[in-house]
Amino acid sequence: MARYFIKTFGCKVNQVESEDLHEALERRGAQRVANLLEADFAIVNTCTVTGEADRKVRKELRKSARFPNAIAVIVTGCSAALLKDELEVLDEKIQVVPDKKDIATYLSKYSEVVPLVADLENSKVLPAAQKRIRIPIKVQDGCEDFCSYCIVPFARGKCSSVGADEVVSKIKKLADAGTKEVILTGINLGNYSDATLNSRAASLTALLRRIQNETSIHRVRLSSIEPRHISDELLDFYKENNLLCEHFHIPLQSGSDYVLGDMNRSYSADEYRQTIKKIREIKPNTAITTDIIVGYPSESSDDFQQTFELVKEISFSKIHIFRYSSRVGTAAERLKPLHPRTIRQRAQAMQEQAAADETHYYESRVGSEVELVIEELAKDETATGTTREYLRLTLPLSDLASSPNNAQSPQLGDIVTTRL
Ligand code: SF4
Repeated sequence: MARYFIKTFGCKVNQVESEDLHEALERRGAQRVANLLEADFAIVNTCTVTGEADRKVRKELRKSARFPNAIAVIVTGCSAALLKDELEVLDEKIQVVPDKKDIATYLSKYSEVVPLVADLENSKVLPAAQKRIRIPIKVQDGCEDFCSYCIVPFARGKCSSVGADEVVSKIKKLADAGTKEVILTGINLGNYSDATLNSRAASLTALLRRIQNETSIHRVRLSSIEPRHISDELLDFYKENNLLCEHFHIPLQSGSDYVLGDMNRSYSADEYRQTIKKIREIKPNTAITTDIIVGYPSESSDDFQQTFELVKEISFSKIHIFRYSSRVGTAAERLKPLHPRTIRQRAQAMQEQAAADETHYYESRVGSEVELVIEELAKDETATGTTREYLRLTLPLSDLASSPNNAQSPQLGDIVTTRL
């Protein structure tokens, strides 16, 4: 039986695709192993979003190829789509298979050496997804926005969406099997579109309405959504019911209109500000998380200051800070980069502000009641889970049991409440 190990880099979409790949390979009889040492095949699901991501991928490929048991190192994902020739020459064991759907077929070529066990329709393997309490599911792929710094549209191609019927049916099954939260995931999620739903603009909300009406899932989180996709329909939905978690990840990237224009982003700093205001008018405790790029080539110190001021004003509960790095083939590639020291200093200043805001968000919630889905129970009598606001908490079981709203002996998957 072929034994394989998957190493995943990058975003939530890649993580979901790796999980789906596990499921597909296990169905075909391949055996998932916990480390490279035991693997016949190393599969590396790559990310090429930054220069740093590329560097890590190459390092991993060289490392995987050195393992004596590895018959082949299969490279898939975004780097595989863009850098086939460059990656293939790193080592003779390296095989580039950009489309994950082709990997099972690829492995079956080796069936004389390490056969896949056939007949998986009758396999008793329980899809990993069904054992999980919170689970991301991919509903959209691709991006056609072409932000000037971003290589993703070249790697992922045009927008496509999983049909609403399929999404709803999957969530129904997951909810029936004990999943409490699904995280709707996509490369550009707000572009979700299904012709059977309403207009394109309202498609994501229409999908949410179907999930609300046709499944028993307890809660839904949106992995990331562009500011322009926070529509009035979506805000009405957020106001009307409790299906959506009180957490939005909305990439800001810059607080300077000049830089946003250069980046080919489709909103101004003030439009972003107004969007956050509307969300907080509906549910004031909503956690807002974001991405910021520091050191974009045309970012002057004044532009950086504008971003810094907007970040302070909004007070995000978490910020992912990216130091700008040029990507070959993007529109920004031709721009002269800032001095690395400037980028480093700006990143550090932003990091300090981000840490202060994160603490501020926690402190502002102290004393309030939050809902937790229990995802882990530990031997030391503690439970760990995630709140609707995306706080990860570990609490003594005795504390949870002492609340009249909760079961006396909380179990995995239970929805409990606690005071922060
Ligand atoms: S919206 Fe912009 S940053 Fe996001 S994937 Fe598309 S091009 Fe890249």
